[in-house]
Amino acid sequence: MVEPASRYVIILKRDLSLAPVEKRGCSAEGHRVRILTVVHSDGALASYTHTMAVSKCRRLSGAALRELLDSVESVLFDCDGVIWRGESAIAGAADAVNLLKECGKRVLFLTNNSTKTRAMYVDKLRRLGFRAAEEDVFGTAFCAAVFLQAEARLHGKVYLIGSGAMQQELRNVGIEPVGMGPDPVSGGQTDWAEVALDPEVRAVLVGFDEHFSYMKLNRALQYLKDPKCLFVGTNTDSRLPLEDGKAVPGTGCLLKAVETAAQRQALIVGKPSKFMFNCAARRYGLDPAKTLMVGDRLDTDILLGSNCGLKTLLTLTGVSTLAEAKEHQQSGCPMRLGMVPDYIVESVAELLPALQG
Ligand SMILES: [Mg+2]
Repeated sequence: MVEPASRYVIILKRDLSLAPVEKRGCSAEGHRVRILTVVHSDGALASYTHTMAVSKCRRLSGAALRELLDSVESVLFDCDGVIWRGESAIAGAADAVNLLKECGKRVLFLTNNSTKTRAMYVDKLRRLGFRAAEEDVFGTAFCAAVFLQAEARLHGKVYLIGSGAMQQELRNVGIEPVGMGPDPVSGGQTDWAEVALDPEVRAVLVGFDEHFSYMKLNRALQYLKDPKCLFVGTNTDSRLPLEDGKAVPGTGCLLKAVETAAQRQALIVGKPSKFMFNCAARRYGLDPAKTLMVGDRLDTDILLGSNCGLKTLLTLTGVSTLAEAKEHQQSGCPMRLGMVPDYIVESVAELLPALQG
C-alpha cells in the first residue's frame, strides 16, 4: 500500500489492500507526476492519481536564490561535501556562510560524522574560516549523548562501539561508556558466548569505530540479548567518501553487522532521522517552514528535510548527483520522492553573489 508522504496528495480511486508489484504509465508532466495504473500481486489492476504538489529539483541562481534565502529564518548545513571536503573548505563557502549570519540568518551545522565532539567541530570550522560556536553544531556524537540522557533517560552505562569523541560527549552528559579501544579475540566459541559483561550496561551505542572487531560484535550481541538493553546507532551512511572517488566503509556497515547479530534494529539519531532536526529545533525554536536544509546527500540530508517539512537545497560538491535526483523525481515512487530536493545549486559559494546582489 502506498503511504501518503508529506507534500504529496494521493487520491485512490478504489480500496487497495495489497501492495503494488508493478506500476505502469508513470509520467512526469512538468512539475507533476501521475501514476496511472498499478498492478497488484493478485493481478488486479487499479488506477490512482499521484500528484506532486510543488515544483522540485529547480536550479537556482541570482534573484531566485535570493528570494529563497529571504523566505527562511534558519539555514542548516551538512558539513562534508557541502562546506568542506576533508581538511579543505569548499571555495567561497566560508564567505557565504558568514554573510548569511551577517544578514541575520540563524546558521547551524548538522553532521552525521560521529568522530568529533562539538568542541572539535568548532575548532575545525574556525580553522577553515567559518564563524561558529559550539551551540551551533549538531553532530551525531553529541546528539546520541543527548538522546540517551534526555530522551531515553538512561540510568546506567553504555557499551560503546565508537570514537573518543563519542566517549567524551557521553561523559559530558554524565553517562559512563565502556568498551573503548581494541578488543582482541581470545578463547573459543563457548568462551565468546560467555564473555564477561558489565552488569551496569543498559544500552549499546554504535558509531564509527576504527577498532571494530569480531569480539566487539560478539559483546554487543551478548548485551542486546537482553530486550531491556537499548540499541542506538549514530547513522547508517554506508561509505565515507574521500577525494578522487576513493571511499572507506562507514558506520552503516558496522551497524548492519550488529543489527544482524542481535536480530534487532537500532534507533538512529542521525540524518535522515527526525531526532537530529528536533534536537536543533527544540534548542532554537526552529519553524520548519522557515528553515532550509543544505546538503550533498539525497538519502540523508535531503530526506531529513523532507521528513521534517523543511525546504531543501542540494549542492553538487559532494556525494549525490543531479542525475540521481532526477531519477528519484521521475520514478514516481513516493518513497523516493522524499529524496528529491526542492532546489539545486552547484556549490554553496553561489549563495554569496545572491546575498550581495
Ligand atoms: Mg555530506
